[in-house]
Amino acid sequence: MLQVFTTKAALSDYICNCKAENKKIGFVPTMGALHQGHISLIEQAKKENDIVIASVFVNPTQFNDKSDLEKYPRTPEEDIKMLEEGGCNAVFMPLQEEMYPAGEVNESYNFGNLESVMEGKFRPGHFNGVAIIVKRLLNVVKPHNAYFGQKDFQQLAIVRALVKMENLPVNIIGCPIIREIDGLAMSSRNRRLSAKEREESVKISKALAKAKNEFALKTIDEIRQDVLALTTNSFLKPEYFEIVNPNTLESITDKNSCPHPVGCIAVWAGNVRLIDNIQF
Ligand code: AMP
Repeated sequence: MLQVFTTKAALSDYICNCKAENKKIGFVPTMGALHQGHISLIEQAKKENDIVIASVFVNPTQFNDKSDLEKYPRTPEEDIKMLEEGGCNAVFMPLQEEMYPAGEVNESYNFGNLESVMEGKFRPGHFNGVAIIVKRLLNVVKPHNAYFGQKDFQQLAIVRALVKMENLPVNIIGCPIIREIDGLAMSSRNRRLSAKEREESVKISKALAKAKNEFALKTIDEIRQDVLALTTNSFLKPEYFEIVNPNTLESITDKNSCPHPVGCIAVWAGNVRLIDNIQF
């Protein structure tokens, strides 16, 4: 039976009891409007822990665009049902005041290059907000393992850097991207796509898959041009496509400069911003 907590105090009591019984805790933070991508993290966590705790909180400090925050889908009843069916033990669903008492936000992190490129460049302040909420949640849940999707590749790098920088006692586990049957990476934002935008959005993952197939044959510049061309039309508008070193997130110009570079893309489908990536 899934337990639902809305306060840090009640969740902490539950966690204390779990720890007193020597239970290993796995944590899956989310912003809700859950889909199979989120549930895959729950399933991974279930395999590796005794207790799985999820959180559902649309974190205002990571939204640089107010209308994106307002339009972000919120489906708490369905989320509870999916978590229950997915075998999650507890979910933390705090109100904003619980995570930001008196609205205070005073932490300012410096992740260097990791936050100045791609998502960090186009969404100023985004990763500072992510770091603030992830640290606050980890401090309450105190999990042994925390699970994050590779769908948000740069976010995963930031979370790993945060944990190292703050010396937090948790293992961060990256999990594979879950896709719709046609290849579109699952995302809570996909529900905001019109039928035509949804149809066109498949071109994003198709362009990445083609780039991977042709990686050995083309230069970095040719691959970039191809991906940008394939994801540009009257419904789709790419914001960036970068091929980066997975450790530093620096763009590479030479294919041999690092093993397994990653191609990261952000595309506007109408007024919905979608991201995806592929490892070469
Ligand atoms: P979000 O609710 O979008 O903040 O995502 C919560 C967690 O689920 C993050 O660690 C995401 O990377 C992960 N996630 C979201 N979509 C997917 C997906 N399609 N496949 C795997 N993980 C995902």
